Amino acid sequence: MIPFNKPYLTGKETEYITDAVISGKISGNGKYTQKCQQFFETKFGFKKTLLTTSCTDALEMAAILIGIKEGDEVIIPSYTFVSTANAFVLRGAKIIFADSLPNHPNMDCSTLEALITSKTKAIVPVHYAGVACDMDTIMELAKKYNLFVVEDAAQAIDSYYTGKDGIKKPLGSIGHLAAFSFHETKNIIAGEGGMLVVNDEQFINRAEIIWEKGTNRSSFFRGEVDKYGWVDIGSSFLPSEIIAAFLWAQLENLENIQKIRKQHWDAYQSQLLSWAKVNEIELPFIPEYSTNNGHMFFIKCKNITQRTQIINKLKAKNTHSVFHYISLHSSPYYIEKHDGRILHNTDNFTDTLLRLPLFYELDVQTVINQILE
Ligand SMILES: *Cc1c(COP(=O)(O)O)cnc(C)c1O
Repeated sequence: MIPFNKPYLTGKETEYITDAVISGKISGNGKYTQKCQQFFETKFGFKKTLLTTSCTDALEMAAILIGIKEGDEVIIPSYTFVSTANAFVLRGAKIIFADSLPNHPNMDCSTLEALITSKTKAIVPVHYAGVACDMDTIMELAKKYNLFVVEDAAQAIDSYYTGKDGIKKPLGSIGHLAAFSFHETKNIIAGEGGMLVVNDEQFINRAEIIWEKGTNRSSFFRGEVDKYGWVDIGSSFLPSEIIAAFLWAQLENLENIQKIRKQHWDAYQSQLLSWAKVNEIELPFIPEYSTNNGHMFFIKCKNITQRTQIINKLKAKNTHSVFHYISLHSSPYYIEKHDGRILHNTDNFTDTLLRLPLFYELDVQTVINQILE
C-alpha cells in the first residue's frame, strides 16, 4: 500500500524529547524552542519568530496583532485551508475572496485592487504548494492602500521569491507577518506545530505578550521588568518543549529532507510529461519568480470525471491520491456571507486538482509506473 503521506522521522526525535523531559523543563520557551527560533532567524533572516502550537494559532495571533475588528475586510484566496479565513473571522472580519490564477491555485493578483475598499485591512496571500504569490504586486497594493500583509506560508518552508529588485527572498520574510505549519503533512513536522514570523518590528513586543497569555512574562525572564502580570489580551499559543525538541530533530535535517522531496517531485514532473499531454492534464506550473520546495505534486485534470477515474485506478493498485479545498466562498459556513461573485478558476481547481503521494520514503517510481500503466 502506498499512502498519500507518511511522516518522516530523522531518528533523533525521541533522543531530543528524552533530553527535554529529563532536563525538567517541558513547558514552552525553553532550550529547544530557542534553538528552533534561532535557526529560522539565522537561516532565513526572519526578524523575530515565535513557535506556536499550529499555523492556525499563528494566523490567529496575526489577526490580533494587526488589530482586526468587527466589520474590517480581509482579502484571501478562496482556494485554501479553512484556517486562513477562520483566524480573521474569529475577530469579526468579513472575508473578501479572491479568485485563483487560471494556471495555479495562488490568488490572481491582477484582480486584487478591484476588491479593496475603505474597510480593507489586510491581504493574506497563501503560497500554495510552496509556490510564491506575486509579492511585488501585493506589497505595492499594501503600500498604496495602507494595508497589512500576512503571508500564509504553511506550505512554504525553504521556498523563495525573486521580485523586480532581483533579490531572492525567503517566503515568510516579505509580509508584515507570516505563519508556517509543522503539521505532519508538511515538509518539516512536529505532529502539530507552527510558527509566527514578525518582520515588522512594531509588532515584536506585543507578539510575545499575546503568545504568553497576555502577560509580559518574556520580558520578566529577560530581566527587563521586575514583575510580570496581565498587560493585554492573549492566549496560550506556545508549544511545549517536547514539541520543540521533535521539531529540532527535523530542522537539523532540513537540507536532506528538501533534497529528497525535490528529487521525487522532479521525477514526477519529467516522467509524466508526455502522459499528461496525451491526456490533456496540466502539470504544476512554477512562475519564474518562485522556487519549488517539493512540498506537493499536484496535477490538474481535464475534468472531474477524469480525476475520479485516476483516483479509482490508483486505489485499485493500492495507491492513495487525494483532492482538497472545496472553495471557501461556496462552503456551508460562508456561502450566505459571500458577495456572490463567481470565482471560476477557484471552482475549477476544486473539481480538477489531484495530489499525488509525496513524502520522504516514497517509492516514486512505482507510483509513476502505475500512472503510466
Ligand atoms: C496546513 C495549512 C494550514 C494549517 O496549519 P496547521 O498547522 O494545521 O494549523 C493553514 N493554511 C494552509 C495553506 C495550510 O496548508
